[in-house]
Formats: sequence, structure tokens, C-alpha cells
Amino acid sequence: MAKKVTRLRGMYDVTPEEVWIWQRLEQTITGLLQQYGYQEIRFPVLEKTALFHSAIGEVTDVVEKEMFTFETRKGESISMRPEGTASTVRTVLQNGMIFNDPQKLWYLGPMFRYEKPQKGRNRQFSQIGVEVFGYPGPDVDAELLLMTQRMWQALGLKNVRLELNTLGTQACREAYRNVLIAFFEQHMDALDEEAKSRLYSNPLRILDSKNPAIKAIIPDAPQIKDYLSDEAKAHFQGLCDALDACGVAYEINRNLVRGLDYYSHNVFEWITEDLGAQGTICAGGRYDKLVEMQGGKPTPATGFAMGVDRLVELIKDLNLWQAETAADVYLIRDKAVPAQYGLQLAEKLRTAMPTLRLVSNMGEASFKSQFKKADKSGARFAIILGEAEHLAAEVSVKSMVDREFQQQTMSQGDLCDFFAEQFER
Ligand code: ATP
Ligand code: MG
Repeated sequence: MAKKVTRLRGMYDVTPEEVWIWQRLEQTITGLLQQYGYQEIRFPVLEKTALFHSAIGEVTDVVEKEMFTFETRKGESISMRPEGTASTVRTVLQNGMIFNDPQKLWYLGPMFRYEKPQKGRNRQFSQIGVEVFGYPGPDVDAELLLMTQRMWQALGLKNVRLELNTLGTQACREAYRNVLIAFFEQHMDALDEEAKSRLYSNPLRILDSKNPAIKAIIPDAPQIKDYLSDEAKAHFQGLCDALDACGVAYEINRNLVRGLDYYSHNVFEWITEDLGAQGTICAGGRYDKLVEMQGGKPTPATGFAMGVDRLVELIKDLNLWQAETAADVYLIRDKAVPAQYGLQLAEKLRTAMPTLRLVSNMGEASFKSQFKKADKSGARFAIILGEAEHLAAEVSVKSMVDREFQQQTMSQGDLCDFFAEQFER
């Protein structure tokens, strides 16, 4: 027998048993994005590798070791997108979208990172991201957090908390960076290889380390809050005031730095304790310098990305949602009735009742086996097209769930009214 080819490590399939969770989640979140007036953009899964090097930064986990990068037949280096912000910036610049217009945009789709697979950490994973261009103030940062809070409510998530920090302006970070480097230089014995390699290129990242020896010295490290300019303080205060006024709870975490290089001012993460180690379900912040770094004119920008895989995990683990059945109604046809009459009846019903989920039995089978399938489909009613009914332009209707319901024979023309009443659609 031929050997079966299996899927790649760190990737997964979604079967119909679970796909409804993905669909409902995506519909809920994108519905809210529309309600807030954000617009969808789509961009390629493959980009020139140089885009990610220049937009994400050379000294980041993502660029250093997580990208799926390969050469085309012509020798050009290309990469699978590991995140969406770089491509969004490229898209808005290439299409002249932010020349004079602010933009509130979102995207949804697969991202690829060559990481060590574990729960909540896959090599292909899905993100819903939001990127906003042209608004410098903290009001839009607050709107993003209000919108995400509404998303968790709509999904039924309770146990999520918000952590905030500010990284200040570039000038604040420059001053802070120097004292931070000096501090770590005094504690070289606590640093691991990775931290040492980042000491001069990206010292803020060390604050974010998961290594216990490093974590132990962090409480003594200098804090960004002591190096903020008045402008940076006011920006952060503006965000906190708006969240207080609108009833969004948060904690300030001074060690919160984002993994990617391009952030400034407000940064945040939504975290749940219900997922174990990989508890960050949504992360983002302001990146006012990125558009300029990518060759555009200076444009303030802010955004976030949420990990859809982790949200699906959470909904499954907590059993938050009840599965919908596959069908409302199942059409059973007697072998003696030619197939075209079953198809014709089903099409008439679908035209008249577009929201009714109608599954038509295919092939020739005994009533018994058709009823089994009807049962499995979860349909509330079976329509039975027997030979006598067919000749009289009638059908019988049987309830699959209610034993009290008497099987009824009715004219085919009355079916729509009957179902309209039963399903109140
Ligand atoms: P982490 O610290 O968990 O590695 P990150 O800083 O690399 O996160 P971001 O680049 O900010 O993550 O991506 C935003 C969100 O996308 C994360 O908060 C997470 O929910 C999700 N995410 C990131 N990487 C993965 C992955 N490999 N598998 C599943 N979800 C992921
Ligand atoms: Mg990561």
C-alpha cells in the first residue's frame, strides 16, 4: 500500500466538527469591525524578505529565527508573512491610501512562523489585525481597546485582563536605553546568551525575558516611567483617562514591551489565565515611526493583532458555545420517485426560503437508512416524498425531535408556510 503523506509539523487541519467555531468567531469579530467603520484589506501571503527585515527589525525573534524564507527560481529571497503590519504599511503606501486620508483597516488570515510547536503556538496560525493611520492622539488607541473589550463580551469571554505600558517617544527610549544597558552590564552573570546578544541592539527586549534568572533582576531595573517626556506622559494619561471614563479596567505593567521593534507610546496586551503559558490573545500598540521608515511621509499609526487560534482554543476548552446542527430540514425521497422530483422540490423551497438549511438525501436508499442520516444531520423535520405523495403533488412532514407531533401530509405548495411558522423566519 502507498505510504500516506502527513501534514507538516506545527500546522493543523480544521474539520467540519470545529470549523463552525472559527466561522462564528470570525463573523462576530469582523461584524464588530464593520460596526466601528473599519474596512478590510487583503494582501499577499508572500512578500519580499526585505520588507520584513526593514519593517520588523533585524534583531527580533521573528526575523532572526522564525521566518519561512526561500528563494524563487530566479534567486530572489521571499518570505511567508509572519505578521500583517509590515504588509499593511506596504499596501497603504503602494496604493497611495494615506496620502491625505486617515485609514482604519483590518485584515484576517494565516501567518507563518517557524517556532517550536506547542499549545497555542503553531507554525501556521491565524490573526485578525487592525491598523489605523493618520490619528496621532490617544483617542484612537482607546477606541481600539473599547472595541476589543466589546469583542470579548460578544464572544462570551470573561477571564481576560488588559495590561498597558508606554514606551514613550524615540527620545525617551534613547535615554532609557542607555541606563538600561548600564544596568544589565552590572548583571552580566544573570543574562543568558540571547539577552547578551541583544544587550546593545535591543535591550528593552530583555525586560520581556521568560528566563527566571533574568526575571529575578528585572524588579531592580530602571523603569521607563522615569524617563518619559511631558508629551509622552500626557499621551499615556489621555489613554488612561478615556479608559477610566468608558469603564475599561487595566493594569499598568512597566515591563511590557512588544516583541517587534517599531512600537512607541502606548502598548498593550490582553491576557487570559485560562490558556496556560500562551495566554496573550491580543497585542498591539502605537508605531508612529514605521510609515516613515518604510519610505512614506511621517504618519502616526496604531493597531493590534489577535491570535485567532488561541481564541478558538479558549472557546473549546471552556465549552463556551453550543454547536449548531448542520440542517433544519432533511428531504427523504422514496426510491420509486425519480430523483429529479426531489431536486426540483428542494430547489423550490430554497428559492422561497433562503435562510432554511435544507439537506436533500442523495442516491437511492431505504427509508430506514435515510431517516438515520436525517437524524444525524440534526434536522428538526424530515420531509418525506413518497410515491403516493409525489403523484398527488403532496409531501409528508415528520418531526425528528418531537414525539407528540403527528406526521402530516400537506400539499407541496403549503410547505413554505408551514416551515415559516415552525422556524419563525
Ligand atoms: P508571543 O510572545 O506569544 O510569542 P508575539 O509577541 O510573538 O507573541 P505578536 O507578534 O504580537 O505575538 O502576535 C499577536 C498575537 O498573535 C499574539 O498575541 C498571539 O495571540 C498570536 N500569535 C503569535 N504567534 C503565534 C503562534 N506561533 N501561534 C499561534 N498564535 C500566535
Ligand atoms: Mg512570538
